[in-house]
Amino acid sequence: MNRQAVKRLQIENLMRFGLKEDHFEVYYQPKMNIRTGKLTGMEALVRFITPKKGIISPGVFIPIAEETGQIIEIGEVVLNKACRDVKKWLDSGLFSGRVAVNLSAKQFSLPDLTSRIDVILQKNELPSYFLELEITEGTVMDDPKEAIAIMRSLSARGIHLAMDDFGTGYSSLAYLKQFPLNTLKVDKAFIDDMTNERGRNMVDSIVTIAHNLDLHVVAEGVEQANQVEILKKLNCETVQGYYYSKPLSKDEFTEFLKRQQSKATPSLIRTNNKNVTSIN
Ligand code: C2E
Ligand code: CA
Ligand code: CA
Repeated sequence: MNRQAVKRLQIENLMRFGLKEDHFEVYYQPKMNIRTGKLTGMEALVRFITPKKGIISPGVFIPIAEETGQIIEIGEVVLNKACRDVKKWLDSGLFSGRVAVNLSAKQFSLPDLTSRIDVILQKNELPSYFLELEITEGTVMDDPKEAIAIMRSLSARGIHLAMDDFGTGYSSLAYLKQFPLNTLKVDKAFIDDMTNERGRNMVDSIVTIAHNLDLHVVAEGVEQANQVEILKKLNCETVQGYYYSKPLSKDEFTEFLKRQQSKATPSLIRTNNKNVTSIN
C-alpha cells in the first residue's frame, strides 16, 4: 500500500476509536452584525482532539469521513453537542439566536434525516427555531428536485437553511431561486479577492443577488478591518472571521457571550436602579 492509503486507514481507525472515546468536540465561531458589532449567531465547527496525535484538522479528516460514511455519526455528535450547548446558553440567558451546524452531503441524503434531527432537538429540549443548517452547492445540486423536497421539510420545522461556500461550486441560478434558503454565505475566496475592483464588484453582485432573492448575507473568513469597511459599503449584514474571533471552545465561547452581555450592562444597571428608586 502506498503511504497515502496507509495514512487514510490510520485516520479512519482513529476516527472509529475517537467516536467511541468521545474525541470529537465542537467549537463555535461568532457571526457578528456588521453595523452594531454585536453577536447574531455562531457556526459550530468540529474539532477532532486525539490524545496521541493532538488536534487533527477538519480539512484532513472530513473528506475521509465523507468517503467512509463516518461523517454521519460525527455529524450527529456535532449536532447533539451544539444543541446541548445552545440550550444551556439559552437557559442561562446568555444567548437567543441560532446556531449553524454544517450538514454533509451524506447526511443530507439520509432517508430519515428529518426524524434524526427531530430526535436530537427533542432530546435536548431545543426548539427548531434555534437551529440553522449549512449546506454546500454540491450537496443540493446532485439531485436538485429531491433537495428542494428535503429542504422544504426542514424549513417547515422552522429550521433555517444557509448555502455555504456560495460561488465556489457549480450551482444553478435557476435553482437558487427555488431553494427555500434563508442565508447565503459568501466564500472566503471572494472576500480575499476584494483587494481589486473586479473582486469587489463580484462580492457586490453576490450580495445583490442574495438581497434580490430575500436572502440574508454572511461574509466568511473576514480577517481585516478594511474588509469590514468594504462589506459595510456593499450592504453585507453579517460577518464571520478571525477579525472578530477564531472558533472558540465551549468554555471560551461562554466567556465571549458574557463579555458581549456586559457591553450592554450599563443601561441595564441604570434601569434596575431606577426601578429600585421608584419602589423606595
Ligand atoms: P466551512 O464550513 O467553510 O467553515 C469555515 C472554516 O473557515 C473553518 O475552518 C473556520 O475555522 C475557518 N475560518 C473562519 N474564519 C476564518 C478566517 O478569518 N481566516 C481563515 N483563514 N479561516 C477562517 P475549519 O474549522 O478548519 O473547518 C473546515 C471545513 O470543515 C469547514 O469549512 C466545513 O466544510 C468542514 N467542517 C467543519 N466542521 C464540520 C462539521 O461539523 N460537519 C461537517 N460536515 N463539516 C464540517
Ligand atoms: Ca460552514
Ligand atoms: Ca464556508
